[in-house]
Amino acid sequence: MSSRTLEMTDRLYDYMIEVSVREPDVLRRLREETFEKVDMAKMQISPEQGRFMALLTELTGARKAIEIGTFTGYSALSVALAMPDDGRIVACDISEEWTNVGKPYWKEAGVAQKIDLRIAPANETLDALIADGQEGTFDMAFIDADKEGYQGYFERCLTLLRPGGLAMIDNVLWGGSVADPSDTDDDTVAIRAFNANLRDDERVTLSLVPIGDGLTLARKRA
Ligand code: CA
Repeated sequence: MSSRTLEMTDRLYDYMIEVSVREPDVLRRLREETFEKVDMAKMQISPEQGRFMALLTELTGARKAIEIGTFTGYSALSVALAMPDDGRIVACDISEEWTNVGKPYWKEAGVAQKIDLRIAPANETLDALIADGQEGTFDMAFIDADKEGYQGYFERCLTLLRPGGLAMIDNVLWGGSVADPSDTDDDTVAIRAFNANLRDDERVTLSLVPIGDGLTLARKRA
């Protein structure tokens, strides 16, 4: 028994995966192809995080989502599969090369029509959605792109979310480096500042979940 979060050993991790991760076959194959063919494959979310995000999608009944940083499309596919037939996720990335890896899997899974891919700097896409009058209409947002951009993405996503909508922000523990004051890498400093700002942000209800590389959940208050 412990009054704090367990340390995740390799053995315990394997057990957790074995008894709880029901990864659809199409997702498993996309994950494996990403690891075989794509540099930076570590940017892909873990299967247990994919299952967690799918559960959150079901719990919130999300039908309109946005993702900043699609990479090879594992998280977008996880969310799209968990949405109802009329669900839509706007998927933002700047790489055709990476997102092209995911597209055949989106199609095979029968959810390609739910994933609205926008190849452009994410702030341009977010600003266009706001200008288009979609403020306050999104149920869910997932932020998983360049870390120095996080605060800007978060502000725009908060504008787009409806009251009660959920923002999920990835990599907030950044391999543990955020807790090491001697680490002054630009990405580490950016995430540390983002986390500190969010702690004091009364616009959201907050929980940092130590899954994957750290996933903060922030629910927009009314
Ligand atoms: Ca990530």
